[in-house]
Amino acid sequence: MSTVPSITLNDGNIIPQLGFGVYQIKPEETAEAVSTALEIGYRHIDTAEMYGNEKEVGEAVRASGLDRGDVFVTSKLNNGFHEPQDAREAFDKTLSELGFDYVDLFLIHWPLPTLYDGDFVSTWKTLEEFRRGGRARSIGVSNFQIEHLERLAAETDTVPAVNQIEVHPYFVNDAVRRYGEEHGIATEAWSPIAQGKVLDEPTITQIADKVGKKPAQVVLRWHIERGDIVFPKSVTPSRMKENFELFDFELDPTDIGTITALDQGADGRIGPNPDTFAYVPG
Ligand code: NAD
Repeated sequence: MSTVPSITLNDGNIIPQLGFGVYQIKPEETAEAVSTALEIGYRHIDTAEMYGNEKEVGEAVRASGLDRGDVFVTSKLNNGFHEPQDAREAFDKTLSELGFDYVDLFLIHWPLPTLYDGDFVSTWKTLEEFRRGGRARSIGVSNFQIEHLERLAAETDTVPAVNQIEVHPYFVNDAVRRYGEEHGIATEAWSPIAQGKVLDEPTITQIADKVGKKPAQVVLRWHIERGDIVFPKSVTPSRMKENFELFDFELDPTDIGTITALDQGADGRIGPNPDTFAYVPG
């Protein structure tokens, strides 16, 4: 079995650098997918209240027979609950859906700078409460831009442990990553294989042929060597296994640079721009 490296977060907690993401996995398929992931060896699951499958994630972790402490579980605050009292109730619900008395990591899913009078600071202070109470071992943010992180730094006491942002070869997002690196915030790269869109890219397939690996493995290894945390999603066991087998090869620095040069800047985004994203589920 592969050995997944660990990353020590700025609060001293440890996160496996490779995990399993469950976005867009239907609730009725989630328990089986997570059980398979745990059997393969994944020990880090990334869910969110927005994904509607926290309950099934919790069920699979319990059914695995693993100790709760052996599986790192992340969830995220949904966009409708940024007001402090709403956030408290939503967090209680996250824990009850999961059936856990703590999450390893809890994130503000989106900054929503055009909603709530631009106030994500009081939301962040509410997550600080969850951390102080021990029910969120670590707290972080997702989709925060540099100016959002600067505001947290100026107005609050806790530096986010992670910032979970879109990163893949078509959108390398290096300015936000660099801010994180300089301020002790670990970068988690979401949609690490651009939901499959980078896998037919000739630059990637040529490197994959050269190193004798699959395109998805090459792209995921690129993330690992850049130091980011990743959690690719798949419900196909052979792909879940493939995505876990990243630790018996390396990419040379030239290939890493060639993949990074595929960056298309903002045109390469596959997800929304956090500066304008204002979706609140009904
Ligand atoms: P991803 O880049 O992981 O791609 C997933 C898709 O790629 C799958 O549906 C499948 O079609 C394909 N695929 C997976 N493995 C493959 C393989 N080995 N070979 C060929 N095709 C393969 O996309 P994602 O699910 O959007 O992102 C991963 C995780 O990131 C999510 O599950 C979620 O946990 C997180 N995420 C977070 C946010 C956020 O706003 N914080 C947004 C999107 C995703």
